[in-house]
Amino acid sequence: MWRTRYRGSPTREKEEFACINCQQPATNLYIKYSEEVTTLTDCDKCDKTVDKYIEQDVVLVVIDLMLQYVQAYRHLLLNVRIQRPERLFVIFWLSHAAEVWIREREDREEQTTMLADQEWMFYRCLLLSAVEISSFVFVILLFWRLKKDETAHTWRQMISLTMLGYYGNVAVVLSFIFRLSHRLSYQIVMQIFLLVSHIQVQRVLFPTVSDSNNIIVVLVAKTFSTITGALFTQAVNDSFM
Ligand SMILES: [Zn+2]
Repeated sequence: MWRTRYRGSPTREKEEFACINCQQPATNLYIKYSEEVTTLTDCDKCDKTVDKYIEQDVVLVVIDLMLQYVQAYRHLLLNVRIQRPERLFVIFWLSHAAEVWIREREDREEQTTMLADQEWMFYRCLLLSAVEISSFVFVILLFWRLKKDETAHTWRQMISLTMLGYYGNVAVVLSFIFRLSHRLSYQIVMQIFLLVSHIQVQRVLFPTVSDSNNIIVVLVAKTFSTITGALFTQAVNDSFM
């Protein structure tokens, strides 16, 4: 059953997968000898199992992602076939907008007691969130243009895989439930978590680029996205004053 999570047929195309330990391309994740007998493939380069996660429960994969294991990121980005990724992106976008909304609400709590104001603020946060995410992805795409030889991914894949780095935003739902959203400590932890997630994604997308360069690219992208977000907020505030 778990095999449906993985890209295409497990043995159909060459070098369709990658080892989660060393990122060596692999032709398959497992070999099926019969209905009952299936063995996981070992990597040609490091001799470890190409992708141990394929027989593990999704919950365990998510836990390893949250613990920021780069192997879990390689599994998700390189070996999993995500059906209809646009649905995921909408969820991440809405979560990011909710995150922005929390920040904005804190800043102007006394001014926004009217429901209509709150509603308008949420729509504005949706736009602001789109601006921030697009700016982040834009910098990653610029880097992709410069380092095309260092990655096997197309620009479309770069966009969708970079977007997956925003998955941590869904924690905003938990922050509402546990009433953590207004706490500064929660917001700091979230920002660090998202930053580390983006760095791990970047490391998987550009495996031959040094870690320090990948970290710099993510920090530049994050700074650029913050600046464009601030400029957007300023422009909206100016036009409605
Ligand atoms: Zn390997």
